[in-house]
Parts: sequence; C-alpha cells; structure tokens
Amino acid sequence: MVDLKGQYEKIKPEVDAAIQQVLDSTQFINGQAVKDFQADLEKYLNVKHVIPCANGTDALQVAMMALDLKPGDEVITANFTFVATVEVIALLGLTPVLVDVDPDTFNIDPEAIERAITPKTKAIVPVHLFGQTADMDAIMDIANRHKLYVIEDTCQAIGSVYTSDSGHSRMAGTIGHIGCTSFFPSKNLGCYGDGGAIFTQDDDLAYKIRGIVNHGMFVRYYHDFVGVNSRLDSIQAAVLKVKLARLDEYTAARNKAAEYYDKAFTGNKYIQVPARFEKSSHVFHQYTLIISGIDRNALQEFLTKRDIPAMIYYPVPLHLQKAYQDPRYKEGDFPVTEELSREVLSLPMHTELTEDQLEFITSSVLEFVNQK
Ligand SMILES: *Cc1c(COP(=O)(O)O)cnc(C)c1O
Repeated sequence: MVDLKGQYEKIKPEVDAAIQQVLDSTQFINGQAVKDFQADLEKYLNVKHVIPCANGTDALQVAMMALDLKPGDEVITANFTFVATVEVIALLGLTPVLVDVDPDTFNIDPEAIERAITPKTKAIVPVHLFGQTADMDAIMDIANRHKLYVIEDTCQAIGSVYTSDSGHSRMAGTIGHIGCTSFFPSKNLGCYGDGGAIFTQDDDLAYKIRGIVNHGMFVRYYHDFVGVNSRLDSIQAAVLKVKLARLDEYTAARNKAAEYYDKAFTGNKYIQVPARFEKSSHVFHQYTLIISGIDRNALQEFLTKRDIPAMIYYPVPLHLQKAYQDPRYKEGDFPVTEELSREVLSLPMHTELTEDQLEFITSSVLEFVNQK
C-alpha cells in the first residue's frame, strides 16, 4: 500500500545526515531537532502552537484530558473510522456517542451530530477520513450553538486545506479547539517510528497540553496535575523536518495517482471513485473505491494474487466491534457505515507510484470487473 523504501532512497543523504546530527548531539529527548520541527510545522499549518507527542492516539487522549472532560461526559465521533478515537474516549471513562457518516465523502454527517446531542454532550471529534477535511463550517456552527469543544482528528489529512463559506482557507486540524495528528510511518507525513502532534491556537490550552505530555510538570519534580509521558524523540523530529519540506510535493504525487485512477474507473457501473468535497482539498491518505453489484472480497483476492495490495478500511464498524459492544447500539443502526464496510476497497496510494504500476493496477481491477 505504501513504498517507504522508494521514498527513503530519494532523501537518504539528507535524512541520514539529520539523524547523524542527533546522534552526535546525544540530545535524544527534547533536542534542538524537536524544537526546529515544531517551528516548521507551526509555520506550515499557520497555527500558533504545535505540541509534539509520542503518537496520534496519545494526541487524542491528551486533547481530551486538556479539556477537562470527566467520566460521564459524552463525546460524539464518527462510527466509520480507525479505533483510536473511541479507544481513548473509553480509556478516560467518557461515553462515546457514535454517529453515521456521509455516503460520498465518508466523513461525519453534521445532521447526525446535531441529532445525537444531549445535555451531557461535551465535545465533537470529527475525523478527516482518507485525506479530506470534514464539513467544519457546519460542525463549528453546531459546536458554537451548543457550547461544545471540537477536537479534530487529522491523522489522515495533514496538509488538507479547508475553505469556509466566508472564503477563509485554513489547514485541517487548525479550525477546532484542538487538532491531533499522527506521524506513523504510513501516514502522509510519516516518521521512522511512532510520533504525533497536537495543535491549538489557544495559549492557555497550549500551556496545559505542554504540561500534560510531561507528567503534569512545569517545574522539574513539581506536578500540578495528572499527566502522561508522551514525547516525540529527536531522531523522529529530524526525519520529519526533512519530510515536511516535501509534504506539498508528496501531496501532489498522491493527487496525480488519484487522477490516474479516476480516469480509469469513472463511468464504470460497478465502481464509484472517491467524491471530492468542494470545501476541502484532498491529500489522498487513501484512495478508496465503493464497489457495488460485484463481489468486493473476490476482487480483493484477485488483486492479492497479482501482488497488488488492496485493503478494506474499515471492515467492521465500531459499534459491531467486540471491545465496544454497547446496549445502546445494534446492527442496522448505522446504515451508511455498515454499507461502506461491505463495499469499500482502498488501492495502493503513495508518493512513489509509477505509471507502469498504475496501469497494472487499473487494468487488473477492470479485468476482474469486466468478467461480470
Ligand atoms: C493513525 C490514526 C490514529 C492513531 O495514530 P497512531 O499514531 O497510530 O496512534 C488515530 N486516528 C486516525 C483516524 C488514524 O488514522
């Protein structure tokens, strides 16, 4: 699905030198590389504060801790997503409230959010799935009217630009109260291990988040509140600094591959290409088709036999996961999410796809589909 080796080969001298510099400095934790990367990312996102942390899941957890969410508080999030969001809600003793998604963009449905609000609702966590920003105008409007916090999960959408009705453009993750991202190797901005970051425009929240990721400590060995240990290490920051300078180039390469796929599949009656949300640019973390009228799983097997990785993100909606069984929810409650989990198929998507590879992938998909 990704070609990290091919990507590394192209930036090897720069990355190796950056890592060597950290080794020579022996500042493995909170070194200059972390400060430099933080400053670069603040500039790139045009956000006041970036707080690096250990991974995207921690970023979400720390965000919820910083907002003082308490057991019993309800947090609304999308059902069709990676598990991390509901996982941290559950770990903190908060109550996850799942809502359905838009069938075209796969992103959280604002009308479903509005219907799910109760007096206990405290926060909304929109996930910018597969590389497109959710409908933030509508989400911020709901949040403002009901006095709710918004934590953006932008683990899959770093670099996506959202343009509001007002014409104002901002980066995904900088629109709500807090944004969270992951630098897991296969993410659009990935390091060579685990990493994450938290963004906010709010000085007080930034101060508190910096304390939480460091054991609730501002003065060494004085702990003001219960925190965690969640840091981005200097070697990862050094890698990320090199790659951040190329993020727009990487996004362009992903869009080019997406256009190739679009051209090959548009108009095929069994295949629906990814919808573009007019308010958001797409950074194609995933290129995800909806396959209907033919056997999606058989298509996946056919591609696998040809050594073409094709993945199902996500095969089981959260409310049907063993760990998140809940008497409030049963099969059939989330028709869009449930249908998507039966019909989606993601094709290889990365920065190193060649025309030959794209031709092989698209002709293989079409060969299977046209056997029908
Ligand atoms: C990857 C991902 C996370 C978790 O990030 P980690 O760095 O793996 O902890 C959370 N949410 C979404 C939507 C993700 O894709």
